[in-house]
Amino acid sequence: MTQEKKYDFLIVGAGLFGSVFAREVTDAGYSCLVIDKRNHIAGNCYTREEEGIQVHQYGAHIFHTNDEKVWTYVNRFTKFNKYRHMVEVNFRGKLLSFPINLKTLQQLYGVNNETNAVKHLESVREEITGKDFESWAKQQVGAELYEIFIKGYTEKQWGRPASELPSAIIKRIPIRTTANDDYFDDTYQGIPIGGYTSLVENMLSGIDVQLGVNYLDNKKEYDNMANSIVFTGPIDAYYGYQFGALAYRGLKFKQQTLETDSFQNTAVVNYTEAEIPFTRIIEHKKFDYQKSNKTIVTKEYPTEWCKGEEPFYPINDAANKTLYEKYRLLSNSEPNVIFGGRLAEYKYYDMHQVIASALTKSASTINFLK
Ligand SMILES: Cc1cc2nc3c(=O)[nH]c(=O)nc-3n(C[C@H](O)[C@H](O)[C@H](O)COP(=O)(O)OP(=O)(O)OC[C@H]3O[C@@H](n4cnc5c(N)ncnc54)[C@H](O)[C@@H]3O)c2cc1C
Repeated sequence: MTQEKKYDFLIVGAGLFGSVFAREVTDAGYSCLVIDKRNHIAGNCYTREEEGIQVHQYGAHIFHTNDEKVWTYVNRFTKFNKYRHMVEVNFRGKLLSFPINLKTLQQLYGVNNETNAVKHLESVREEITGKDFESWAKQQVGAELYEIFIKGYTEKQWGRPASELPSAIIKRIPIRTTANDDYFDDTYQGIPIGGYTSLVENMLSGIDVQLGVNYLDNKKEYDNMANSIVFTGPIDAYYGYQFGALAYRGLKFKQQTLETDSFQNTAVVNYTEAEIPFTRIIEHKKFDYQKSNKTIVTKEYPTEWCKGEEPFYPINDAANKTLYEKYRLLSNSEPNVIFGGRLAEYKYYDMHQVIASALTKSASTINFLK
């Protein structure tokens, strides 16, 4: 005789994937419990208030999308401000407009109109062959712009020479010949007023949540609590790393409170020199125009990642893709477990993409159960 289980779904991970899935199945009439091994909800987009400022604990998070359905969905749970993401580059102490645009070319070479910007870019592009990242980038912007904006930053980010990286790590280098220096082109952009944590808190309203508990430490016990599991943690950890660990790039954050009301012009300034060990400085209050006599800044240091540390960026090289595929095939044999989100799918997802994915997977699950 099968025992009646307490919940329809146990959702492992209170990040965006788990929280959207939980909201959708709850609204469709199913019961669920959400658990997270961290002592807070919202996963990697978690924000917390300090000195009246919303601090982005796991790196700067800017919501941007062209997906109207996702935008309408998130606006059900919070209001967004009208933040438009602007980034400056600090190269040898000089501040430059970024992505490369007419203003940048004016700052560096005195180029003063669109026609001359097009001509300038055509004249510097290198006609070299080679499929590595460095050759590909020089084909797009030439050697000097590549040195200033891309080489040092990319090498710090990935921890190896750009000539050894595949060109696929960046889909395209955004270059504009107009003076538009918006970082993103997306129609919908903003930061949740009151932070991402309150967005997720509203999403999880009325749903059972347990924090500070690791599913894998008590898997049997948790499995007995629900008919289906939604797992948003690392897929290799779920399977006890039986084929080996998937590799990630790590990040360390150094946060400082400064006795000044403003530290830099924009919320994010990229430091592109190879000699400076961090890649960027975030000034948190600039995301939501918060007024305070103090300011909080965070430096981001890319690091080598070791198993057991916080995973940040998946390394999408051939060896890791093959390894992930082995785990994915294994997961097909477990019809009662749904794997979703950045860690379970070993995929870099932006927030709007992970929300869209959770909406699709929850809808097909609900349909299947009807
Ligand atoms: C530095 C950085 C900056 C980013 N900036 C942006 C940005 O500007 N804009 C944007 O759109 N996206 C950005 N992203 C991407 C964004 O963070 C992700 O899209 C989003 O967080 C993915 O949500 P998720 O639910 O898949 O994963 P997560 O948020 O990681 O949630 C998974 C949760 O599962 C929990 N968990 C794992 N294993 C277990 C276990 N065994 N038991 C219990 N709980 C477990 C974890 O603690 C975690 O809370 C950024 C990512 C990084 C790394």
